Amino acid sequence: MSTTIKNFTHVDLGKFSGLTDKTADGRSKKFMKADLGLTGMEISVTRIDAGGKTPFFHSHKQNEELYIVVEGSGQMQLDDHVIDVKEGSMVNVAPKCSRALRASAKEALTYLCVQAKENSLEQYTKEDGVRHEEHTWKN
Ligand code: ZN
Repeated sequence: MSTTIKNFTHVDLGKFSGLTDKTADGRSKKFMKADLGLTGMEISVTRIDAGGKTPFFHSHKQNEELYIVVEGSGQMQLDDHVIDVKEGSMVNVAPKCSRALRASAKEALTYLCVQAKENSLEQYTKEDGVRHEEHTWKN
């Protein structure tokens, strides 16, 4: 369920461990762009059961992807490199890199994947942020 009010959209998926929308290959995967009304990025949430893996390797035409592991542990293969990932791991993957993920044999792997056009970020943090000293908490 999502709520859209002027200038923001709020979605509450519940606990990541409770993701239940299974794809045909047994993953729980949800793309959030439409629900959140995103215009400059896509984000997905994926939960792979213990012992499971993504069904194929893939790359992208123009988008880099930031993988953020939020639960569990497993591995990523990035071209010919295999790395261990666990809660707290963040991996930025260039568009042309072939990638796949698998959960460890003992626990599920849950991760967020944010994709945005490589080299599209023109300003950020202090260059883009604007302080609003006139605003205070309403209660
Ligand atoms: Zn991708």
